[in-house]
Amino acid sequence: MEQNAQTCAHRPCKCSVTEGQKFCSNHCERQSKGDEAQKVVCGCGHPECGGTEAAA
Ligand SMILES: [Zn+2]
Ligand SMILES: [Zn+2]
Ligand SMILES: [Zn+2]
Repeated sequence: MEQNAQTCAHRPCKCSVTEGQKFCSNHCERQSKGDEAQKVVCGCGHPECGGTEAAA
């Protein structure tokens, strides 16, 4: 059985979060509440989320 991996509550975000947490970072928590919640690209800065420009 696979582990129940929870993902960040910020929809565009692909980060995994610890059980009990909703967001991977304060950034996502703010974004999800703000007008930018519908942004396609998440800017939390985590590599796994592809938020960094350095990522090819
Ligand atoms: Zn993210
Ligand atoms: Zn996130
Ligand atoms: Zn993240």
